[in-house]
Amino acid sequence: MKLAIDQARLSLEQKEFPVGAVLVKDNEVIGTAFNRDRELGYLAHAEMLLLLEADQKKPKFSQRKEMTLYTTLEPCLMCMAASVSFFVGEIVYSLDAPEDGGARLANIQFGGDSIKEYKLPPLRKGILVKETKELIQSYILIGENKALVEYSKKLLS
Ligand SMILES: [Zn+2]
Repeated sequence: MKLAIDQARLSLEQKEFPVGAVLVKDNEVIGTAFNRDRELGYLAHAEMLLLLEADQKKPKFSQRKEMTLYTTLEPCLMCMAASVSFFVGEIVYSLDAPEDGGARLANIQFGGDSIKEYKLPPLRKGILVKETKELIQSYILIGENKALVEYSKKLLS
């Protein structure tokens, strides 16, 4: 998660909303990415960029199942769905996203385990929350996207 925080810091340095993501397998870093929606567009979330990059390496199904995706913010529904489609073995995130968090939305939409092949991987959360909040606090001070600044304030409340 520390590496994901470092990635989120890179977002912030580019005035992006700070989210960082890292993919790990057997304690080896497969890839890293940070949010670039200001630069690349609305869907360029850290987790999406990370999974797209990892997919280029054409990992086998059995390898993907052993990967853990670390991200600083609870993935949105898009990133959660991409993780499910990629068959990531586990997702670990720092801070909850109560307004648009994919974990809750996916459970509402799919009813937990009702679809056998496509289900949420195990989730762990609440790691390095203080560090994640500090980065989001910094974004509130420098962010140019008013909607994301408002979103940031809700994340910290
Ligand atoms: Zn996302």
